[in-house]
Amino acid sequence: MPIVPYDQREGFIWLNGQLVPWGDARVHVLTHGLHYASAVFEGMRAYDGQIFKLTEHNQRLHESAKILDFEIPYSIAELDKAAREVLRANKLSDAYVRPIAWRGSEQMGVAAQNTKTNVAIAAWNWDSYFDPAARAKGLRLKIADYRRPDPRTAPVESKATGLYMICTIEKHKAEREGYNDALMLDWRGQVAEATGANIFFVQNGVLHTPLPDCFLDGITRRTVIGLAKQRGLKVIERAILPEELSGFSECFITGTAAEVTPVAEIGQYTFTIGDITRTLMDDFTALVHPAKAKVAAEG
Ligand code: PMP
Repeated sequence: MPIVPYDQREGFIWLNGQLVPWGDARVHVLTHGLHYASAVFEGMRAYDGQIFKLTEHNQRLHESAKILDFEIPYSIAELDKAAREVLRANKLSDAYVRPIAWRGSEQMGVAAQNTKTNVAIAAWNWDSYFDPAARAKGLRLKIADYRRPDPRTAPVESKATGLYMICTIEKHKAEREGYNDALMLDWRGQVAEATGANIFFVQNGVLHTPLPDCFLDGITRRTVIGLAKQRGLKVIERAILPEELSGFSECFITGTAAEVTPVAEIGQYTFTIGDITRTLMDDFTALVHPAKAKVAAEG
């Protein structure tokens, strides 16, 4: 079935303080955010009508903008309320929600002191970020050529659009070669993350995950660490070198869109979808989507 382009869908988008018909949420071609990547965004998911960690996501949006030297002209509480309105207006209960803030077209050139900050929030159905069959078997990741940048090179703690340029290039390369995604190393050559999700490994019943010192410390990552600890599992955050991949038995990635998705292969290294991965996938489902977990358990 052909995918309906994202600018041609039905419904409402919240744009600068009000809900507008989907097709009217447009920007001009001379927009600073488009030319100079002065834009930050969020991705959140609603389950059973509730947006998971809504306020944390909107806090991060505010922080991301501040790091790029602009202010979002709506409070976190206003953004929370707006996101809920978007869900209601589009009659969505399980959905992906995308807030974005960008500098407008009042000024062109690198300097942008006089631009207005625009904010939009859209929502749509996005059941599985990865192909469900690939997700069931475990993803295949290719090791990327580009690396996550040194914090002295880029504003790595901001969820800024510009940081995704290398992710799209790497994801395309990976997909062209039959992989589902790419694993990015960091500027030092340590394992960092996938192109839109954090990564975890299992070794002798212990979880290992890279320290998020040059990439996003995902909200899902922190949630999964909490769930693992509740299960009495040990979680070690440390520098992980690619040569160590042969010593891990399980691997999974975490993110708002990806949720908890098992990984079966990274280049030459293979992993099984083991008990720890399955337990954390189930615990995550139970946490975000209690109704679904109950049906599965009764099932
Ligand atoms: N890293 C990158 C590059 C991402 O795009 C995301 C998704 N926002 C994550 C990690 C995971 O973050 P979160 O769990 O907060 O969605």
